[in-house]
Amino acid sequence: MTHIITSLCLRDGACVDVCPVECIVAGKPEADWPWFFIDPNTCIDCGACVPECPFEAIFPEAEVPASFEMKPKQELQLFRGDRWVAEGGELVDLTDDSQWNHEFYKEGVGPGYAAKNM
Ligand code: SF4
Ligand code: SF4
Repeated sequence: MTHIITSLCLRDGACVDVCPVECIVAGKPEADWPWFFIDPNTCIDCGACVPECPFEAIFPEAEVPASFEMKPKQELQLFRGDRWVAEGGELVDLTDDSQWNHEFYKEGVGPGYAAKNM
C-alpha cells in the first residue's frame, strides 16, 4: 500500500516536510508531471501528509474516490492537461490518478528515483 496524490494537487509543497521518510517529490518537468508524487516503495502509510494538504489531494491508495465532490472554486489539474475551476458540486473520478503516481517512479516511464535529486 501507499498513499496517492491526486489531480487535486496544486503544488504548494505543504506535504513534503511532514513526511517522516521523505518520500514526496515535486513532479518535474512540471508540464509532464504536474503534481507532487509519493514513492510507493518508501511510503509507510503513516497518514501524516493527509491533513497537511489544503486541497484534500492525498488519499490512502485503497480510498482514492471514484466520485469526489468538488467545492466551489476548488481547482483540479488534469494530468498533462488543463487546470479547471469547479463551480461546486461536480463529482470527479480520481481513481485513474493512482497510475501516474506509480509511473513517476518507474525508470524509463518517469524520472524514477533520479527525481529526488532534480
Ligand atoms: S503517508 Fe506518511 S510516509 Fe506516506 S507519503 Fe504520507 S507522510 Fe509520507
Ligand atoms: S499534495 Fe497537497 S500539500 Fe502536497 S503539494 Fe500537492 S497540494 Fe500541496
